[in-house]
Amino acid sequence: MFVYADNAATTKLKNSALDAMLPWLTDGYGNASGFYSIARDARRAVEDARKTVAEAMGARPEEIYFTSGGTEADNWALKCALPEGGTLITTEVEHHAVLHTAQYLGKNRRQVIYLPVDEKGHVIEDEMDRALEQPPALVSIMHANNEIGTILGVNELFAKVKTRWPKALTHTDAVQAVGHVPVSLEFVDMLSMSAHKFGGPKGVGALYIRRGVSLPPLLHGGGHERGKRSSTENVAGIVGMAAALREAVNKLDIAAGKTKRLRDKLIDGVLAIPYSFLNGDREVRLPGNASFIFEGVEGESLVLGLDAKGVCASSGSACSSGTLDPSHVLMAIGLPQEVAHGSLRLSLSEDNTEEEVAYMIEAVAEIVARRRSMSPLWDEREQKPTERFWSK
Ligand code: PLP
Repeated sequence: MFVYADNAATTKLKNSALDAMLPWLTDGYGNASGFYSIARDARRAVEDARKTVAEAMGARPEEIYFTSGGTEADNWALKCALPEGGTLITTEVEHHAVLHTAQYLGKNRRQVIYLPVDEKGHVIEDEMDRALEQPPALVSIMHANNEIGTILGVNELFAKVKTRWPKALTHTDAVQAVGHVPVSLEFVDMLSMSAHKFGGPKGVGALYIRRGVSLPPLLHGGGHERGKRSSTENVAGIVGMAAALREAVNKLDIAAGKTKRLRDKLIDGVLAIPYSFLNGDREVRLPGNASFIFEGVEGESLVLGLDAKGVCASSGSACSSGTLDPSHVLMAIGLPQEVAHGSLRLSLSEDNTEEEVAYMIEAVAEIVARRRSMSPLWDEREQKPTERFWSK
């Protein structure tokens, strides 16, 4: 059986997106900045897509700027909204697109405060209050975590920021949230999104910039996107993103409901394995995310074992980046280093089935049992209580 359970990494292109894109990959090849018919058609398609994205987000078209994806949108927001000498408040659990940008800025004449999170991955409010004693230039907090699935509640957090420091700017990396859960722009000045996380193509995304917020460009050049983001428009990508987002938002409740039911079955089934634990908040989490750790088993070996059984999954450890460091997210929620080395993330979509969920539960249980039976230390661990031996 082939099971795709890595939808947090990327999603299958929706048919609506492919259909919308095809004309712009074939005869509609004009440069949207040109002055002839096929160029004008391309320009119209880009502007229609902008309207569609804006409508889906509850924004105005002139507040949507297309980018090459979530990473560029995050870099743009952080690097260009944070002046020299300014303070950025962010969290310890951000995606590397934010975290590594923040670390870069921290070494280049900016202050950065990294807010700790509790064991479910929520920002610790007292720490936020303490950070807000001084005025920040920018607060960047992700909408939902890509690894453990926790939804961080940016609305309440940003409301607090705006009450205390009305001039501070707010940015949210909503890459995992857009198209999957409702997203409010009420207290948000900038928001990053990425098409390939909601059934659109790879290599295209957008930054929402609230009207009145003056953000200098990250990319200088020919003056595209009203002078804010130069580079010839990726017409097919932009059109595909708009089609995918419209579909995702229109059927968000139904898709999220179905995905959640599958996810809950998966979580219940997997947690029946002894010494297995769910990462993140059981309730306040992305509909498709199920992230686990299994004592005595490395996440990577599980991912490889699952691959051999046709299941596409991912591990929260940092082996993909070529380092042996444990996941910064798992460390931030208080997992000891030896446990933080190996998590298993199964991320579902509404396209998954009950049979697939049952197959994955069985496969995980079998691989975990096999790996543990090979470990000389496991017998000793089994003598101890099954509860977590750590806490934050
Ligand atoms: N932010 C989050 C939370 C993500 O999950 C990802 C992708 O994994 C990104 C940013 C980067 O997005 P992109 O792949 O479009 O650059």
